[in-house]
Amino acid sequence: MPTIPARRFAVQRLHIGQSIKVIDSTGGQVIDTWAFSIPSTPSFPRYMSMTHTRSTLHKLLPSIHESFLDNKRDPILTITEDTSPGIHDVLYAACSPERYLQLGADKDHDNCAGNLHSAVQQCTEPFFSHILHFLESGWIPDPLNLFMKVDIDGTNLQVLNPDSKAGDYIVLKAEQECVVIMSACPMDLTACNRGEPSSAEFEVL
Ligand SMILES: [Zn+2]
Repeated sequence: MPTIPARRFAVQRLHIGQSIKVIDSTGGQVIDTWAFSIPSTPSFPRYMSMTHTRSTLHKLLPSIHESFLDNKRDPILTITEDTSPGIHDVLYAACSPERYLQLGADKDHDNCAGNLHSAVQQCTEPFFSHILHFLESGWIPDPLNLFMKVDIDGTNLQVLNPDSKAGDYIVLKAEQECVVIMSACPMDLTACNRGEPSSAEFEVL
């Protein structure tokens, strides 16, 4: 089964109707996930958007058989199965060099924003050089942080240890021709990954 190496990333092309199963092999590992639509003609990127999903569904994230939406409010990935407790974060930005500097770590600490950049650099679809242009201008779409637990108390947020157990998985079905990019979050300074970043696995169904 393909691996998302600890602190690194994986890229998977999906055709409409194909699904990706993302497995938290060790339990408690957050996977920052992005999906980019592959358009027939070059255009501003269409991507899975947490803010458009929230404001269309009027809730934090889709339930089973509901979809994450793109920035034009069209379905892009549908949750068809989820054996985890169903807690996934849609509010936190991807960890980045600035975040690690603020936490007192080195700016060269592995980070999900850098993993996204490296992943897009790897994509061979011509459209991705277009996305790379926006990333290099500083744009980073909000990720779907699979298995990440954030407590919401009024307007306060707190990152907690994830509840996912070893082997828990979520299945996301492609509603558009797209590429999914997954980063095994390297955060080791907060409760995000229970302090111990590890690898994960995935499978195309
Ligand atoms: Zn991260």
